Amino acid sequence: MKFVVSLLGLVFSASLLAHSTNIPQEIKESEKEIWITLGSDAVLGAQKSVGIDSIEEYTTQDGITIMKMKESGIEAMSHLMHDQFKRCGGFVRHDSLEAAQAELGATSERLFAEKSVLVDYSLDQEELVNEYISQVNEFQIRSVIQKLSSYKNRYYKSQTGVESSNWLLSKWQDLAKGRTDARAYTYKHNRWPQPSVILEIKGKSDEVIVVGGHADSVAGWFGRENAKAPGADDNASGIATTTEVARILLESGYVPEKTIMFMGYAAEEVGLLGSKEIAQDFKAKGKTVVGVMQLDMTNFNGSDLDIVMMSDYTNAAQNAFIGNILDKYLPGVKWGYDRCGYACSDHASWTSAGFPASMPFEAKKADMNSRIHTANDTIARSNGNAEHATKFAKMAVAFVVELDR
Ligand SMILES: [Zn+2]
Repeated sequence: MKFVVSLLGLVFSASLLAHSTNIPQEIKESEKEIWITLGSDAVLGAQKSVGIDSIEEYTTQDGITIMKMKESGIEAMSHLMHDQFKRCGGFVRHDSLEAAQAELGATSERLFAEKSVLVDYSLDQEELVNEYISQVNEFQIRSVIQKLSSYKNRYYKSQTGVESSNWLLSKWQDLAKGRTDARAYTYKHNRWPQPSVILEIKGKSDEVIVVGGHADSVAGWFGRENAKAPGADDNASGIATTTEVARILLESGYVPEKTIMFMGYAAEEVGLLGSKEIAQDFKAKGKTVVGVMQLDMTNFNGSDLDIVMMSDYTNAAQNAFIGNILDKYLPGVKWGYDRCGYACSDHASWTSAGFPASMPFEAKKADMNSRIHTANDTIARSNGNAEHATKFAKMAVAFVVELDR
């Protein structure tokens, strides 16, 4: 989830930053300029947190503002957002004004329509889907959450951030064992050490279906590399849910028509950096991604609704498809819509690259897990189990099979 700044937070952060003498040296040094997009209601906060002379408002459209800022201000902004507003990322970084402007104009509907890729949203795989849904195992999901949240943190710049992603790689390589059409590998990023991880099941066609979430975690203000950030819900739960879908399909010998990719993105917490690089890479290579499901926080049952689809930065037609899947295969699951109000997770990277993406979330935004980005984001907050996440694993396995055939 990503940031929106309230007035209280502004006053608090301004006084904190004004009086905080121990601003890391690197904030003062690098003067590289970058462009960001963020929710317009966060502009004032951004100016306060980064310093009025380090950030400049450029243009605003549909509640989204382009700003030019000094690269050195990135950490300060995401620190403020995570600690005060319990939000991930909160802005999208662009390396050029053109890329930022493309973001403003880009709606996945328009860009996807331009590619005129036909996607079949009919539901006709009942037998297979029900068989796979019956195999969803709470213990499997819980054990992955427990393993990932046992690392001190999974911060994109820390040693444990690299180790936890390497563990995920080995876990996914184990799942792919014995399949000549499946392999797991890392997607390396030049600007930071934590890799993204991809598990690919090659299909008869190169059309791609993506299910994934971010593998990094964050907590604290300074010294994040050493902070305690178990991130059990944000986002070990999404990675564990993704892993369960892959486990069921691979162990069941499922042979896909399309190519299925499971992804654990690096560096979401600091601006969707990992997913953005991958989505832009896929776009540049002319890949056809027919659908993306983002699983970011699936294990805190905060609302009366079980699954809440974010309607902004997502694809309406695909959201409706997922709604039909829930009505047909999980009639007991109560679902609905809400808005993030900004690019709140990695689905936004795929949307701005022109691919249809959806973000089914654990609760209405106002009811989401308030312990995220702290040392207390542990599975105890979900009664020590992964029951809530099982609903997402069932929805996601149905999404893959129905979209694939
Ligand atoms: Zn998150």
